[in-house]
Amino acid sequence: PELIKKLESTIENIPDFPKPGIQFKDITPIFLNPKLYEEVIEDLANFSRGKIDAVCGIESRGYLFGIAIAVALEVPFILIRKKGKLPPPFVGQKYDLEYGSAEIEMRTGQLQPGERVLIHDDLLATGGTTEAAAKLVEKQGGKVTQFSFLIGLKDLCGTDRLKQFDAEIHQILE
Ligand code: IMP
Repeated sequence: PELIKKLESTIENIPDFPKPGIQFKDITPIFLNPKLYEEVIEDLANFSRGKIDAVCGIESRGYLFGIAIAVALEVPFILIRKKGKLPPPFVGQKYDLEYGSAEIEMRTGQLQPGERVLIHDDLLATGGTTEAAAKLVEKQGGKVTQFSFLIGLKDLCGTDRLKQFDAEIHQILE
């Protein structure tokens, strides 16, 4: 409750960015306040403690918190990147956007089969990106057991798309 209040007053709402009608949540002010950042990591690490073998973070804001969660819990951190950034070998997963499609990739051999995985990103909107990330983890033989986000945009029903994975979901702010 304290943390929620602090985040609500810190995260900025930017109207009409990147397109008219979109309200962009800017999380960068969190990094101006190291104590608040620590509290966020503590909250996210507490959610996952003892429940995961690896963290997969989604480019790029998912790295800002994901790697700190992994270090706090002493488990590996694996990057999920946008197409074309990772050297081979890697596996890819395509997904649909509002207009067109996109693809994300992950190095092979970094995730061990059977590992319990937390997928982390800063924000859950439609869930399309996170759903693709979870499919990528499953392709590698991993088990997605948790999802965490700083923010979930309730109106976009992103959690509905994640139900198929039978994993716990944590959103600090809804
Ligand atoms: P989704 O695939 O529709 O769930 O979109 C989630 C992805 O878009 C995440 O990787 C977010 O970082 C990014 N995203 C969408 N809207 C916002 C926003 O308002 N602020 C920050 N990131 C956003």
